[in-house]
Amino acid sequence: MDKKAMYKIGYGLYLVTTHINDVDNGCIVNSVTQVTSEPQCIQVTLLKSDYTCELIQKSKKLNLSIFDESVPFEYFMLFGMKSGRTTNKFDGFSDVARSQNGIYYSTSHTNALICANVINEIDFGTHIMFICDIEDMMVFNSNPSVTYAYYQAHIKPAPKPVAPNSEKWVCTICGYVYDNAVEKIPFEQLPETWVCPLCNHPKSVFEKAGN
Ligand code: FE
Repeated sequence: MDKKAMYKIGYGLYLVTTHINDVDNGCIVNSVTQVTSEPQCIQVTLLKSDYTCELIQKSKKLNLSIFDESVPFEYFMLFGMKSGRTTNKFDGFSDVARSQNGIYYSTSHTNALICANVINEIDFGTHIMFICDIEDMMVFNSNPSVTYAYYQAHIKPAPKPVAPNSEKWVCTICGYVYDNAVEKIPFEQLPETWVCPLCNHPKSVFEKAGN
C-alpha cells in the first residue's frame, strides 16, 4: 500500500479562529470542506491536542479566513507552528479585525471570510470534526485561494541541503536538523511523543539527512 496516495488529495490552507471569555486563538488547518449546499454547511477538523480545538468545543463558533496565494510564510510560522497555550498569537499582529460574532479574522492575504456556528461534532480519537452552519460570509478579493501544493512549491522556504549523514535527521516541515553527534539522546531513541523544537510537528515527519 502506497500511503503517498493521500498526498494526491488537494487541500486548501485556512486560518481557523475562535474567541471565548476574552481568550483569542487560532491555528492553520487544511481540513475544511463544504458538506452541503442547501442549507450551506461546512466541516472543519482539528487535532484534539490543539488549543483552538479545545476552545471551539467551548465557544461553539469559529471564523474561517481563506488565505490567498500572497500569504507569507511568517503567517504559517505564527499560526501553525506555535501553541496558543504558551503564546498569545495575536500580540503584535495587526492584520486582524473582529467580525460581528466577536471573533478575529485575518484582514490581509485573505480572499474570503466564513463565520460559522458548530451544530455537531464527531470525535475521531485524535481529531474532532466540527460540523458548522453559516452565520455570515464575505468575499474580499478575487485572488486565487492558496492550496497546500502551492504552499509547498512557492511559500515554504526550500530547506538548506544537508549532506547525506546517518547521524543527522531533518524535519521535513521546517528544515530543523537533529544531530545525534551533539544531542544527548540519539534521534532513534527519542519517545514518539517528542516534537520538533521549531515547528512542533511529530517525530514521524523527520527523515534521515540526504534521503
Ligand atoms: Fe520542524
